[in-house]
Amino acid sequence: MKAVRIHQHGDGSELCWDSTPKPQIDSSSDDILVQIKAAAINHLDIWVRKGIPGVPLPLILGSDGAGVVESCGDKVSDFSVGDEVIIQPLLYCGSCRHCKNGKENFCFKLGILGETTNGTQCEYIKVKSNQLKKKPSHLSFSDAAAFPLSTQTAYAMLVKRARIQPGETVFVWGAGSGVGSMAIQIATYFDCTVYSAGGTDAKVHLAIKLGAVKSWNYKKTDISAVVRKTVGKIGIDVVFEHVGSKTWELSKRMLAVGGRLVSCGATTGYDVSIDLRHLFMKQQSIIGSTMSDIQTFEEMLALINDNKIYPVVDRIFPMEKVKEAHKYIERSGPLGKVVLMNE
Ligand SMILES: [Zn+2]
Repeated sequence: MKAVRIHQHGDGSELCWDSTPKPQIDSSSDDILVQIKAAAINHLDIWVRKGIPGVPLPLILGSDGAGVVESCGDKVSDFSVGDEVIIQPLLYCGSCRHCKNGKENFCFKLGILGETTNGTQCEYIKVKSNQLKKKPSHLSFSDAAAFPLSTQTAYAMLVKRARIQPGETVFVWGAGSGVGSMAIQIATYFDCTVYSAGGTDAKVHLAIKLGAVKSWNYKKTDISAVVRKTVGKIGIDVVFEHVGSKTWELSKRMLAVGGRLVSCGATTGYDVSIDLRHLFMKQQSIIGSTMSDIQTFEEMLALINDNKIYPVVDRIFPMEKVKEAHKYIERSGPLGKVVLMNE
């Protein structure tokens, strides 16, 4: 079969469209072989390509995927050949203290497809049934591949970690990103008042379309000033951070008394400062978050299935054009997800 692989870390030229053996399932096992139709690109792919320590090489990239069950071992009872499925990208042991408490994303052996083991950007992948969910029937394969990782992350950050409440204000950086586009929809669904900032006018318009009551172009606007003008000195209850050092100071400055700053990423840098005096006097919280547990994944999936929130796809590339797709993401900063499709 063909697969997107890296053999060493580096720029986009390291992406290979390789021939590699098709995975085989043991017919007496609980293995499931899925034919991948579509696989989204996440920022994680770019980090992995550039060089996360400890990544096994060569590695098939990709955490998100959607496809069709091609074959099942005899012990599989919840999926059948021909089922349309999406991939749940979290890998966990199922037996540690955190897994037993339903906090799989805290697992001591936490892994993720496309980082700690071969991923989804290929023609076939071998998985277990806990890595699959039925594909939302109203979504195309490309849309279905575009949401699992980013949406579980955004949902867990807002609902489980920052515990957003109806009527609260939420500020979301980056409507054009996978997590940002979902965060705006999720916070809006939970009756929060959402504000957003993006780096182009198109991203500003997208934020409004997704539910933000106000959105600004941070390249043209003093975000601190407009937020203060809009919500007053009270500030913002929950700031949704995934940008890192470039936005950190602004995020802290707009935070209300009792506010929560929740972060899942640091695409512009991870070295930031905290003024402890503000933290304790204003009783604020800085919260880290990564992926989600399985129960949270189900809750998020229910919102997708009910069409309360929907994935935003910017562009689809044939999977073998993965180099062009990475170049597109790194140069232009897309308006939603970029998805790779098998022909
Ligand atoms: Zn575990």
